[in-house]
Amino acid sequence: MSSFDLIVAGAGIIGAACAQSAAEAGLRVAVVEPGAIGGGATAAGMGHLVALDDVPAEFALARHSLRLWQAWAHQPEAEFQRCGTLWVADDEAGLELLRSKAARLSAAGMIAELLDTAALRDAEPALSHDVAGGLRVPTEAVVYPPRIAHAMLTRVTALGGALHHGRRVVSLDADGACLDDGTHLSGPVLVACGCDTPALLPELLMRPRRGHLVITDRYPGWLRHQVVETGYAASAHGDAAEAVACNVQPRPGGQLLVGSSREFGRAESAISPALLARMLRRCFRFMPGLARLKALRAWTGFRPTTPDGLPYIGALPSRHDVWVAAGHEGLGVTTALGTAQLFVDLFLGRAPRLDPAPYAPLRSVA
Ligand SMILES: Cc1cc2nc3c(=O)[nH]c(=O)nc-3n(C[C@H](O)[C@H](O)[C@H](O)COP(=O)(O)OP(=O)(O)OC[C@H]3O[C@@H](n4cnc5c(N)ncnc54)[C@H](O)[C@@H]3O)c2cc1C
Repeated sequence: MSSFDLIVAGAGIIGAACAQSAAEAGLRVAVVEPGAIGGGATAAGMGHLVALDDVPAEFALARHSLRLWQAWAHQPEAEFQRCGTLWVADDEAGLELLRSKAARLSAAGMIAELLDTAALRDAEPALSHDVAGGLRVPTEAVVYPPRIAHAMLTRVTALGGALHHGRRVVSLDADGACLDDGTHLSGPVLVACGCDTPALLPELLMRPRRGHLVITDRYPGWLRHQVVETGYAASAHGDAAEAVACNVQPRPGGQLLVGSSREFGRAESAISPALLARMLRRCFRFMPGLARLKALRAWTGFRPTTPDGLPYIGALPSRHDVWVAAGHEGLGVTTALGTAQLFVDLFLGRAPRLDPAPYAPLRSVA
């Protein structure tokens, strides 16, 4: 059979989550993935589940998704660790940002605890003593995204879905998708190809945004929270050619994942030693002891970035039965479950649980 209720191109965390939600809604799903399941941006990132709150539509999608992630909290494949997020500030402007963030998170019903310097030292001894203050969001967590994508695909196939692994969608037509081995699959298509989405949908603008990460040896207990500096949101939402911000995560096995950097206009995956050094210096500013730990490996990955920073989720009105879920920049793991629910609601004509307008692909197609 080559006819499906839904054909999903791409098995990153977004395609996998959408395929799982669609299969659970009773649809017969086919997934096409040329590389490793969850092997794109999904494997390159940090897996921090965090509500960035300064862009309302992004906050709404993240908040909704965080609630849905609770269903994964006890599933071993998720490697879910509720370490909480600790936002830290190193000056008065940063403290002001912490206060407004605390107010926004609390107003949205999230727990957000402002910490003075003494409480901060108690909460996270690795922090420099001149860090001015912190904000703890204890319910946030970290997960291991590629394994989750794999678990989602296992669920899809268990529900009767078909996986075309090692195959690529090369073109779309009025009736479905053509694969690189000449196979034709009939049915509505969801393009969830991350940074590669414009290869199938050139009308959608997308820029890959390169990021560096470093992983250390194991230092159990060295860090307790995912520590993020207040400047992170400006780095994520800004349009600078190059930006760095301190963002350090304790992995369940005791390793530390150290980020973050953002660069536009860099297509190659090679490490940039100068930017990596700048990123690490920024982290040492907040955690001086980090400089004495042993780094094992560094790599880069590419965040799929739309012109306004919000993902494309929905139907492409200019095409017949073609849908998209892509462009989640640095928040695609956090927002995967809300994206999948919104997509399936729209696809089945159900009332969406979130206002879909801010994510409408048409906003940049027009
Ligand atoms: C350094 C870094 C740190 C990050 N940290 C976090 C974080 O802490 N928290 C968070 O929420 N997010 C984070 N992110 C962002 C997150 O990883 C991405 O937003 C998310 O993984 C995007 O998922 P995706 O499925 O859209 O893309 P991808 O994971 O890239 O998946 C797209 C898939 O489509 C496939 N594909 C491409 N072309 C075709 C085709 N023609 N046919 C079929 N398949 C195709 C690819 O092989 C790929 O597997 C980070 C990203 C980076 C780079």
